[in-house]
Amino acid sequence: MTVLVIAEHDHATVKPATLNTVTAGIACQSGDVHVLVAGANAAEAAAAAAKIAGVAKVIAADSPSLAENLAENVAAQVLAIAKNYSHILFPATANGKNVAPRVAAKLDVAQISDVTKVDSPDTFERPIYAGNAIAIVQSSDAIKVITVRTTGFDPAAATGGSAAVESAEGVADSGKSSFVGREITKSERPELTAAKIIVSGGRALGSAEKFTEVMAPLADKLNAGLGASRAAVDAGYAPNDWQVGQTGKIVAPQLYIACGISGAIQHLAGMKDSKVIVAINKDPEAPIFSVADYGLEADLFTAVPELVKAL
Ligand SMILES: Cc1cc2nc3c(=O)[nH]c(=O)nc-3n(C[C@H](O)[C@H](O)[C@H](O)COP(=O)(O)OP(=O)(O)OC[C@H]3O[C@@H](n4cnc5c(N)ncnc54)[C@H](O)[C@@H]3O)c2cc1C
Repeated sequence: MTVLVIAEHDHATVKPATLNTVTAGIACQSGDVHVLVAGANAAEAAAAAAKIAGVAKVIAADSPSLAENLAENVAAQVLAIAKNYSHILFPATANGKNVAPRVAAKLDVAQISDVTKVDSPDTFERPIYAGNAIAIVQSSDAIKVITVRTTGFDPAAATGGSAAVESAEGVADSGKSSFVGREITKSERPELTAAKIIVSGGRALGSAEKFTEVMAPLADKLNAGLGASRAAVDAGYAPNDWQVGQTGKIVAPQLYIACGISGAIQHLAGMKDSKVIVAINKDPEAPIFSVADYGLEADLFTAVPELVKAL
């Protein structure tokens, strides 16, 4: 049977999470990997998906009902072709997590969430208890509906493939929801889940002003994304969408620099798969040092500006 990957896209480009999900799809060893691009006037995104290495076919469903990514309509689009597939994979992003359960429920199968490893076509690994244990899940469902933790899989090459693009009829609007508006955060900095380098600040920063004053120059110097602990977000030092951790974003950049973050398990759950971890903390007993490749026991208000100067 064949594997279907649901592309995350903005109608013009395919988002990086799709590439990791394709790798997970290939790992399912169930046959060809197809990618569904459900959008409106999304030919460019479909063409980009066709170039992903390892993709055999792109199914381009184009309809005004898919313009705003409404979960009800995207789920209906997936369900229209679901029976042709043994595995249906979504990235475990906000979008993917919005659509996958609807698909699983309608197919009457158990969703397998947040998969970090594929052991065999029916056996998958996923972290539980904030990443402190790994559950090995075996599914006997005929169609496996899976969300993929993207940090668990390397991205497939975005170019090099030459898949055929096949048009599929777009579904009609379900009428169950309608698009009202969207507020998009605009930032010059790389998006957290795609950033190669992330610098994160914690409660130790003490105020929003200090957070910006101390952390922003380091992020600018390194062209890094800015992250924060939940304590920093809850205290209003940093915006919500910067939160890294169990209830924030799961990231795995090449380099993660944690400044004044203690390293609570809920924070570690979101960043401990980073390739190189640097921690700056004045408490030598801080748990963050147990996962850090490089630890600097220092006052961040001195160390971070010195680091910026040295860079
Ligand atoms: C259900 C649940 C979900 C959660 N989800 C998340 C999540 O997604 N993400 C998350 O981050 N947390 C999460 N938390 C909260 C988590 O348990 C911690 O409370 C939080 O991560 C602590 O943030 P912090 O490290 O910034 O603050 P603290 O734990 O207060 O640590 C501050 C650190 O700064 C150091 N420090 C102080 N001053 C300086 C200085 N001048 N220079 C250098 N170091 C200094 C201290 O030594 C200390 O280690 C969750 C908790 C629960 C219960």
